[in-house]
Amino acid sequence: MGRLLGGSTSHNAMLYFRGFKNDFDFWAANGAKGWSYRDVIPYFLKFENFEFPNANPNDNCGELTVTQNPEIEETPMYKVFDKATKQMNMPVVPCNVPNPDGK
Ligand SMILES: Cc1cc2nc3c(=O)[nH]c(=O)nc-3n(C[C@H](O)[C@H](O)[C@H](O)COP(=O)(O)OP(=O)(O)OC[C@H]3O[C@@H](n4cnc5c(N)ncnc54)[C@H](O)[C@@H]3O)c2cc1C
Repeated sequence: MGRLLGGSTSHNAMLYFRGFKNDFDFWAANGAKGWSYRDVIPYFLKFENFEFPNANPNDNCGELTVTQNPEIEETPMYKVFDKATKQMNMPVVPCNVPNPDGK
């Protein structure tokens, strides 16, 4: 994967995802000083610009604009994913919270 000019960054799906709190904290605990979730959150907040109706105004000042795709729920892939997560009783959670397990 990613063996092209620009690497995987050139062909990803453009879904925006901060990552898991536990991953950052694990890296910090294993020597990555300054990479705990608490350390990195100010930088996420600095560069993000969420354009959602319910966005936190504190998240709305950066240069990386993140929007919702209103058509995504009509795609076949979304419908299959939606059905599977309901069957597994997975909760609906926002993506960019410390522990975003769920749909
Ligand atoms: C199909 C797909 C979909 C994805 N969708 C998403 C998404 O929706 N949202 C999201 O957040 N992430 C997504 N990702 C993950 C994301 O794209 C990667 O995590 C990110 O691009 C990694 O960036 P990077 O700068 O670390 O590496 P890359 O962008 O891959 O850059 C690494 C570069 O190093 C080069 N390189 C490697 N080895 C050598 C070497 N020995 N010598 C010289 N050059 C070398 C590679 O050719 C490449 O250009 C997706 C990934 C894939 C594959």
